[in-house]
Amino acid sequence: MGILHTHLILPLTEPERHAGLPGRLRQIKKFDRLPERQQRKIQQDRLRRLLEHAYTTVPFYRRQFDKAGFHPREARVDHPLPLPVLTRDDLRTAATWLVSSAVPADKLRVALSGATDRMPIRFHRDIESVRDKVALKMKLDAWAGFKAGDSAMMLWGAVSDAAREFNWRWRVYEGVFMRQTPPPPGVVGIDVLEKWRWRYEKQRPKVMYGRATVLAAFAGYLRERGVIHRPQAVISTAEVLSAPHRKLLASVFKSAPFNYYGRRDIGMVAAECSEHEGLHFHPWGSFVEFDPIGQSPDGTVYRLLVTDLLNYGQPFIRFDTGDCVTLTEQSCSCGRWFPLVGKILGRIEQGAVVANGSVVPNITFNDPLNPLKLDPRPVLALPEKCSRAVSRTRQKKQAMSA
Ligand SMILES: [Zn+2]
Repeated sequence: MGILHTHLILPLTEPERHAGLPGRLRQIKKFDRLPERQQRKIQQDRLRRLLEHAYTTVPFYRRQFDKAGFHPREARVDHPLPLPVLTRDDLRTAATWLVSSAVPADKLRVALSGATDRMPIRFHRDIESVRDKVALKMKLDAWAGFKAGDSAMMLWGAVSDAAREFNWRWRVYEGVFMRQTPPPPGVVGIDVLEKWRWRYEKQRPKVMYGRATVLAAFAGYLRERGVIHRPQAVISTAEVLSAPHRKLLASVFKSAPFNYYGRRDIGMVAAECSEHEGLHFHPWGSFVEFDPIGQSPDGTVYRLLVTDLLNYGQPFIRFDTGDCVTLTEQSCSCGRWFPLVGKILGRIEQGAVVANGSVVPNITFNDPLNPLKLDPRPVLALPEKCSRAVSRTRQKKQAMSA
């Protein structure tokens, strides 16, 4: 981590997001060094604390917990929470009933869900959680070798982020202090790609960071025109990183891309480590559950449910992200026990009703070469808790059949 940036430049220039950053980073670092048993214990304590807070200060959850006959002290990280999922419709309709009465209005920040959502949803975060999420993202960045202040070229493109281009303060802050190069907004055509190429070869960034499809478009252009500089890390986020795009990025940049998983509503919560064997969900920031919904060539497909352990302003408990994932067969070689996802498959769109009355989710795919076959049977199994549990079961089955 660039100490000058994390301890001085960032807290001074942008205190809204970085106040107390050194202490937050120390807290996560301390957590990361603990043995697995203690990390699980801390995650469970944090989960119970959040649920207790939700039960006592959020009317929506008080009603739900009572209805389910559930008390927060019963929560365990090795069991599914016996509660209904929180849906995007809940976020729309419950509105202020989901906001904690214990967090003062001046400590809340309003945000909108992702720009790719057809109907963005307004939600709240308490300011401390905003800062915790920034610190957690920096820790995940460190897995890719990306430190605050490293030279980075951002191929982002979200409309709301592009507005920064017109603000000279942002240009100075990002360009001079953060050494980040955001591309000019606009449709990605030959002219824009050529500007990017010129800028890329001139600035020789250590890190390429951006949306999967934009990074792939740029890599494809570089492959045709020739490329001289190679960055140390390529980070793909905000979209599904398909197998062909992963291959293209690795081939052009001579570096295996790091895939991230994050959303505007829950923040950046998972990333690949240097082993590139899947995405780890960091247990300091979230508690995840995997709800099986069908089959794909890569195995069982799970709906991803996330409980955000950081946001006390508007708790997200068993939030149905709408995203589908597969789990890996084995634990990661890095040794972390953190829940491991093999692939992020895509977003569940509107469900279709089939003949037997069950609902088959329709999943948006970015990988036409590897289509998914969904199981139309209704979901009956309990959510499985983590990849390790799945891995153990599969290993046992394989051992028995061998
Ligand atoms: Zn790992």
